[in-house]
Amino acid sequence: MTPGPAGDRSTDGSADGAGRHLVVVGGGVTGLAAAWEASARADVTVTVLEASDRLGGKVRTSAIDLPGGPRTVDEGADNFLARVPDAVELCVELGLEDQLIEPAIGRAAVWARGAVRPYPTRHVLGVPLDADELARTGIVSDDAVRAVAGEVDSTDPAPPDDVAIGAFIGGRFGREVVEHLVGPLVGGINAGDVDELSLRAVTPQLAAAAADGASLTLALRHRLAAAPPSGPVFRALAGGTATLVDTLADRLRERGAGIHTSTAVTGLGATTDGRIAVTVADRPALVADSVVVAAPAPTAAELVGDLSPAAAAHLRRIVHVPVAFVTVALDASRVTVPEGLSGVLVPRDAGLLATAVSFGSRKWPHWSDGAHTVLRVAVGHRHDDRPADLDDDELVAAVRADLSTVLGVGVAPVAARVSRWSPGFAQYQVGHLELVGRIRSALGADAPAVRVVGADLGGLGLPACIAQGRGASRELLF
Ligand SMILES: Cc1cc2nc3c(=O)[nH]c(=O)nc-3n(C[C@H](O)[C@H](O)[C@H](O)COP(=O)(O)OP(=O)(O)OC[C@H]3O[C@@H](n4cnc5c(N)ncnc54)[C@H](O)[C@@H]3O)c2cc1C
Repeated sequence: MTPGPAGDRSTDGSADGAGRHLVVVGGGVTGLAAAWEASARADVTVTVLEASDRLGGKVRTSAIDLPGGPRTVDEGADNFLARVPDAVELCVELGLEDQLIEPAIGRAAVWARGAVRPYPTRHVLGVPLDADELARTGIVSDDAVRAVAGEVDSTDPAPPDDVAIGAFIGGRFGREVVEHLVGPLVGGINAGDVDELSLRAVTPQLAAAAADGASLTLALRHRLAAAPPSGPVFRALAGGTATLVDTLADRLRERGAGIHTSTAVTGLGATTDGRIAVTVADRPALVADSVVVAAPAPTAAELVGDLSPAAAAHLRRIVHVPVAFVTVALDASRVTVPEGLSGVLVPRDAGLLATAVSFGSRKWPHWSDGAHTVLRVAVGHRHDDRPADLDDDELVAAVRADLSTVLGVGVAPVAARVSRWSPGFAQYQVGHLELVGRIRSALGADAPAVRVVGADLGGLGLPACIAQGRGASRELLF
């Protein structure tokens, strides 16, 4: 990009005196959604500034080379929740409805007590709703099943304050449910430790049900009966999640938005006329009326530090965990993965590097040419720094050892790819909602024309990121 000098329409966006200039820092899904919302307004000029040489942030879709030709496989997010509507709605708005697909198979399993065991069908975020069904899975001991059955008699009040998911669930159902059911699922999604993660921020469904009554089991069953789930839980895009990013970028350009990659924002400051100076590395500053910062929290802290030291201090408290996905393609004729399952979650107490193995080509048949089984293995977890210490070859070797342990798969992959993500997943620790509230209050007081949003604050799933981006623009441009 070549921003012109301040005052030029390309930098100021309102040099003709009409309209306002909204600058978005970060071209991930949150930033692009913010830009999309703002670009619908004829009186607003939109500029997206992205530090890296590509858009999408943690969404990246690329090809892996199989003997029969390359296949397109996501390196990060490969699907999104359909029941939180924002991602599906945006896809429809962008004309991508025809490309929305569902996973071919959805049942997960957990590697527990030395075997791959299908997850119970009746559960909410790993909290079992049917002790008899749980007993049949063999995931937990008989003592643990008895504790689950007994929870219906709980007289414990809901926790008055936010608590760790592990402490709350463990107190109600016992530690095995934490370690073999809730931990692998919720901890896996967040690369987090459920003994640190916030009940209210990470599992609001459980927090709300806890507030309903004494027994969490009964409250969750009641909620499910009152609003039975309908339709697919997950959706994806046939060409990979980057289709959303690419389409958003195309449509934004059609609407006249400026999108500039390889353009790192280095600071935000106040201009003498009450606007925001957006400093860009090696280029003249831009002037904006409002700014959406949709970059990871450590960067956001640096950027807003001059405008709001208090917001920056709060942003710096958010802890991150780097993660990686190792994608392996195996000769399908030499590999058998358990029937009827979409993948296996791996509990922490297993001591393995893998936290989950997704049977990618079974879930998404377009990932494979039919002759190969494509597995995607997640590694990296709070308090497990081992992946960062291994180079790519060592990581692939370690993952192969885990696949041998969990699935009995010993064949060498015909292709392997390591996708690393750093700073990775923000950890919504106990008190996260209050922390986000303090960030918003501080910014509201010190820099009301600036919003900090994105996966590190208000939800890391794509629907939540889209909702945050769009919401920030709506608030700023009301
Ligand atoms: C491995 C993995 C798997 C996932 N799987 C799923 C899934 O299946 N479903 C789901 O819903 N979610 C999933 N997620 C979560 C989801 O992908 C992310 O939470 C979401 O994409 C984050 O979007 P974001 O725009 O908030 O942040 P990011 O994607 O991190 O984007 C931030 C952008 O800001 C840019 N930036 C940083 N500093 C600056 C600067 N100084 N100036 C300008 N730009 C800057 C960065 O380069 C980046 O492009 C997954 C995440 C990962 C890592």
